[in-house]
Amino acid sequence: MHTMKALVKAEPREGLWLQDVPIPSPNRTDVLIKLKRTSICGTDVHIYAWDDWARQTIPIPMHIGHEFVGEVVEVGEDVHDFSPGDLVSGEGHLICGKCRNCLAGRRHLCRTTKGIGVDRPGAFAEYLCLPVTNVWYCDPEIPLEILSCFDPLGNAVHTALAFDILGEDVLITGAGPIGCMAAAVAKHAGARYIVVTDINPFRLQLAKKMGATLTVDVSRETVAAAQEKLGMKEGFDVAMEMSGSADAFTTIIENMCHGGKIALLGIMKKPSAIDWNSVVFNGLTIRGIYGREMFETWYKMTSFIQTGLDIRELITHTFHYSDYQKGFEVMLSGKSGKVILDWEN
Ligand code: NAD
Ligand code: ZN
Repeated sequence: MHTMKALVKAEPREGLWLQDVPIPSPNRTDVLIKLKRTSICGTDVHIYAWDDWARQTIPIPMHIGHEFVGEVVEVGEDVHDFSPGDLVSGEGHLICGKCRNCLAGRRHLCRTTKGIGVDRPGAFAEYLCLPVTNVWYCDPEIPLEILSCFDPLGNAVHTALAFDILGEDVLITGAGPIGCMAAAVAKHAGARYIVVTDINPFRLQLAKKMGATLTVDVSRETVAAAQEKLGMKEGFDVAMEMSGSADAFTTIIENMCHGGKIALLGIMKKPSAIDWNSVVFNGLTIRGIYGREMFETWYKMTSFIQTGLDIRELITHTFHYSDYQKGFEVMLSGKSGKVILDWEN
């Protein structure tokens, strides 16, 4: 049997193990991709650390990872639109194709989405097999490191475009990789002021580089003071929650203008309460965001990059895949933006 290297969650404890696993073989409608770069997501760090969510979700053994770019090396007999040599990334959410939303073309709202690297083998490997309907043809002019971040960049773009931000004042809570990308996208898409909060100075500095007008360390300063500094009078028009912190969500509610719009991407660890009367009296709109639109978001992020959206500064580290341990350690330290693994060299 032909085997490949992969980063496997092989045991129910902290860590990942570089092991030999079988190379997947594509069926009639699949595409086999040889990976070039992958990037490490917060989800992968949860799986590495083996927290409660990971314990309840991840089957063992399984190789993980879902942010990738690679080259097509083989296609199933019913695949006509991709051929060996094509540079591709892809949507890691596999949909049922049968539910109401899937049938209506709203595939990002499928009721039974399955994730690569979460529910089935992932992209931290030499090869990845994906249904053709999930494969995205990449613009080869875009650097590989950036293409490998299209999944999280898609989260940022999908959230940032949930509401009209042209000329608006935007509050982003959480300067993780996705919050930083959202700041860059908001700037590119024509927001006026972009205020980004976090409690990690390293990340706030990254947010500043990525286009934040002002950053707020909420362990020392308030968002209200930031509004004053900018001469804002009525609160933020649009907010994006990208920290998963209940406190951050409260900060958003307190700093919105009347009629303000809030997009929630961050995943909270447990249920939390907010002041619903502020939502009612201030006429706020709250919208949950999951994943990316297939493939409208992919189209938009490609054209944003083609027209000058630059997220290179956010990529702080690149390691050979055999040095994955270092990659996970720097992610766990909080002193990183995106961390890339090289599967090609
Ligand atoms: P991350 O964990 O790297 O970043 C979160 C940031 O929030 C960290 O820098 C942290 O210091 C900061 N933070 C913590 N408490 C805060 C507070 N009170 N105020 C402001 N900032 C605070 O995460 P990421 O990879 O950038 O992803 C952002 C969020 O989006 C995470 O919650 C992640 O789970 C979630 N996510 C959701 C989807 C989806 O489809 N809905 C997809 C990917 C990620
Ligand atoms: Zn469906």
